[in-house]
Amino acid sequence: MKIILLGAPGAGKGTVAKRLTEFDGSVQISTGDILRGAVQAGSELGQQANAFMKAGNLVPDELIMGIMGDRLQEPDCKNGFLLDGFPRTIPQAEALKTLLSELGIELDKAINLDVPRDVILDRLTTRRTCENSSCQAIYNIKSSPTKVDGICDKCGSKVIQREDETEQAISQRLATYQEKTAPLANFYESEGLLVNIGAGSTDEVLAAICEAVAAAPA
Ligand code: AMP
Repeated sequence: MKIILLGAPGAGKGTVAKRLTEFDGSVQISTGDILRGAVQAGSELGQQANAFMKAGNLVPDELIMGIMGDRLQEPDCKNGFLLDGFPRTIPQAEALKTLLSELGIELDKAINLDVPRDVILDRLTTRRTCENSSCQAIYNIKSSPTKVDGICDKCGSKVIQREDETEQAISQRLATYQEKTAPLANFYESEGLLVNIGAGSTDEVLAAICEAVAAAPA
């Protein structure tokens, strides 16, 4: 499937995308994971992105489009892709539209995970992430803890609270979301691609996405 996952930080985009990859060989492309990997590696991209990320602000569109222009042309995207955390601004959505039409790729749907703010706040403060940049598995100390405290079940690396998951950074990320990213729902509505899915268990959300994508024109 070729879908965009929209929704506030903590709405469950990453968790849902990771599960969807098991269905049909689609790859998860998370700009947040790519950027955190670059910060950890200390690459030029990482150095440019780090301060924006720590403060809970968006990284400039030019940097993001540079990453995505290359990423979407890699061979593993042929089986489909799940865009997680991208696009995040109207200019990114416009640039993505141009890029996809140049590459002859049609999106199935833009799925908007619409989760209430109190649920989001609770999830973000209790979320933990594997620090290994090639794993980045997501846990939650309340609802899906690691088997061994602080150690990733999948790769054995340390599981940490992200630097941008302090209360201050979280409220900045949510404000940025409202201002810059929430308008994308209207953008994709007018493209005829938007599907809104409310809060539910991961299995319920997965079922709703699969149903929406199956209903998309081939
Ligand atoms: P995420 O893991 O998707 O919440 O992303 C973490 C941080 O990476 C965000 O708060 C932004 O600073 C940055 N980021 C990720 N994706 C994008 C994007 N598409 N555009 C701009 N900044 C992004």
